[in-house]
Amino acid sequence: MGFCLLNNVALAAQYLIHEFGAKRIAILDIDLHHGNGTQDIFYERDDVLFISTHQYPLYPFTGFLEEMGAGKGQGLNANLPLPPMSGNHAFSAATDELILPLLDRFAPEMLLISAGMDAHWADPLGHLILSAAGYGEVIGRFTAWADAHCAGRIALFLEGGYDLEGGSSCATAAVAALLGQPFTDPVGPAPYREKGDWRVVLEHAKGLWQLE
Ligand SMILES: [Zn+2]
Repeated sequence: MGFCLLNNVALAAQYLIHEFGAKRIAILDIDLHHGNGTQDIFYERDDVLFISTHQYPLYPFTGFLEEMGAGKGQGLNANLPLPPMSGNHAFSAATDELILPLLDRFAPEMLLISAGMDAHWADPLGHLILSAAGYGEVIGRFTAWADAHCAGRIALFLEGGYDLEGGSSCATAAVAALLGQPFTDPVGPAPYREKGDWRVVLEHAKGLWQLE
């Protein structure tokens, strides 16, 4: 909503289903913002699992934990609204404790990632204070998951990112992670202290998704 004319990742998912007969596609949205368009498109469908991590409160002010899909899509829409000043540790824990278990449960044939880089600490639009190395770390684990569970079928889609150095370092980290190559972060970690408020949200999410 507002930033894109076409939803690239949704088009890709639909293309895989329509042209290749895919039955289960997972879309993981790690952009700073809630993926409200992607959620809306697949909200009542059982062939696409949508997971979005995002800062809340922040535009577009959607993406609540309780939005879990409807109709045939019930239980296939997961949101993790993270408070400002969550950082690398929050994303690492969310990956281990929520995202990968939900992927295990759904068993997608391909993993598509809305790889917005605007959760980087230098980005002017938000305060999720990830570092490029933090992006690389979680993308490396998504890559390993795809290698182990869906024949390495993973694709990243560039989305938000409004600080040129932060965005380009995150993109480099992402490519290095896909290739299993080492990455040296030219921008470095956030010069702010992470807050731990995200733990409460993650525990609530795990309760809703019965991942205790
Ligand atoms: Zn964004």
